[in-house]
Amino acid sequence: MKAGLYVVATPIGHLDDLSQRALHTLQQVQLIAAEDTRQSAHLLQHHGIHTPLTACHDHNEGQRAAELIGRIQQGEAIALISDAGTPLISDPGFRLVRAAHDAGVPVSPIPGPCAAIAALSAAGLPSDRFFFEGFLPAKTAGRQARLRELATEPATLIFYEAPHRIAAMLEDLCHCFGPDRQATLCRELTKTFETLRRAPLATLRDWVASDPNQQKGEIVLVVAGADPHNRQQAQQQQALEMLKKLLPHMPLKTAAQLVAD
Ligand code: SAM
Repeated sequence: MKAGLYVVATPIGHLDDLSQRALHTLQQVQLIAAEDTRQSAHLLQHHGIHTPLTACHDHNEGQRAAELIGRIQQGEAIALISDAGTPLISDPGFRLVRAAHDAGVPVSPIPGPCAAIAALSAAGLPSDRFFFEGFLPAKTAGRQARLRELATEPATLIFYEAPHRIAAMLEDLCHCFGPDRQATLCRELTKTFETLRRAPLATLRDWVASDPNQQKGEIVLVVAGADPHNRQQAQQQQALEMLKKLLPHMPLKTAAQLVAD
């Protein structure tokens, strides 16, 4: 194989979702840099791939990058994979890919599964413009603060969420976006218990709260963007909240001017 860094997407559940090109690349490179070598060993074993593995994760990526790029400069082909889906999408790899570009080393994507795109493709919500948010802050205060910033975004929003936080997240979404906004909960995509349900946020919140099975596995939540009418309402709401925060610290006129700005 031509020397370079190959960024290879792997399945998000169903092991057969590995493309022919990804398979050949993983078989032919000299080394596979994996987020978690034990996790990836399972996939590689399933496909009869015997290429050596090395760990490249959030904690060692900085130092590992120099070493891997050195090997590529000596003529090797190296693949980067994450535990599931496309590397760099809420997964490690950015520092390595950036370092490869900085060093003038060729970088090539081998595209394939990505939970965000799989969810969007089947969510039944507008897909012409979308905003990938990934994981929200884990605590309610931080999560609500971020959701308030996103409340007026007109593009369809895509969130990743951990199963033990999905109930609280839906509660916060109802609070910040209103209970009627359409959303699609996509759980365990490509796996045995795959579940997709599109409904208003309040319906999803009540369903998830009352059924512990919906609080298991891997989850993508796709949420409709703000419609122009609600957007205006949300902006007014935001302005009022800002005003309330500023008022204890300054005269009304100054606070109103700041909020208007
Ligand atoms: N790089 C991955 C990708 O391309 O989608 C995402 C990695 S991120 C660490 C893991 C999150 O992706 C999970 O918490 C979940 O939100 C989402 N995810 C991954 N696989 C999924 C699946 N099979 N069904 C639903 N969501 C999934």
